[in-house]
Amino acid sequence: MKILVSNIGMLATPLGRTAQGGTQQGQIQILEKAWLLMEDDRIVSVGDCTVPTPSAELTINAKNKLVTPGLVDAHTHLVFGGWREKELLPKLNKVSYLEILAQGGGILSTVKATRLAEKEQLKAKAKKILNRMLKQGVTTLEAKSGYGLDVTTELKLLEIIKELQEEEVVTIVPTFLGAHALPPEYQNNREAYIKLVTENVLPQVVQKKLAAYLDAFCEQGAFTVAECQQILRAGKEAGLGLKCHCDEIVALGGTELAAKMGAVSCEHLIKTDARGIAALRSNGTIACLLPGTSFYLDATYAPAREMIRQEVPVAFGSDFNPGSCPCSSLQLAMHIGCYNMA
Ligand SMILES: [Zn+2]
Repeated sequence: MKILVSNIGMLATPLGRTAQGGTQQGQIQILEKAWLLMEDDRIVSVGDCTVPTPSAELTINAKNKLVTPGLVDAHTHLVFGGWREKELLPKLNKVSYLEILAQGGGILSTVKATRLAEKEQLKAKAKKILNRMLKQGVTTLEAKSGYGLDVTTELKLLEIIKELQEEEVVTIVPTFLGAHALPPEYQNNREAYIKLVTENVLPQVVQKKLAAYLDAFCEQGAFTVAECQQILRAGKEAGLGLKCHCDEIVALGGTELAAKMGAVSCEHLIKTDARGIAALRSNGTIACLLPGTSFYLDATYAPAREMIRQEVPVAFGSDFNPGSCPCSSLQLAMHIGCYNMA
């Protein structure tokens, strides 16, 4: 079936089909007073007012508005129990994220709430958020597990993501983030937890086709570079793509590691230095930056402009999660990023 979008005020499309770096990153094709023709879910032609508007079986009048491709949110923690509103006041009083984490707050309090929640409850909550994101223009998003940190709950979160992917119109790319934090029951046995992630949960995730990517949190208070290497290697050997939370609070060297291991993206990168940027560049790794998190943590911003100058492809994600970025608006993240990332 042919569908025509007519009366478009401005049609704006980034050029190219792959991640772009440097000056190419800013290249956008703009058509004013335009139309767009779709056939069987594919865009087959576009034109401006100098080209006659084709006919179609269905016409949508864009009423002179802006039309862009659907937004892609490359980093979300979509499924979780509870919220962490109680951390707001300490944060405003300058208690650091690592201190909150050490006091049992942060990720671990969400893990507790997520483990206690029923599957349907978690799914209904995620679905509501998903619809809110869709209304703001997000048509594809990445969603991570990482608030279960045990076999049952990690699998449950990924199953919810899979069900939402099948039932909802938004395209969801699932990521296994078993290495998000060390759960309380393994605080004194790090090796055993890493073994659980790599030798127990991961094979089940792969066998059930529950994830496209594996992610790890390389950070002080989370996992070391050597531990992340072990976890990422297991993910790679199991056939998953790699992503890594790096340099959010302290630059440990996770960016260099993940880039060298062929990760598609390194994420956060607030503290990334010249060595990290060089590693991203030489390995063609995408810098997935999360401006909303810097805003809510009252932290500095990732060196986005320097990355772009160095031809590293830069993407923005919302990092939507119940604590460090409780805002699901990718549009707001884009605004915060563009204004603050010098
Ligand atoms: Zn994250």
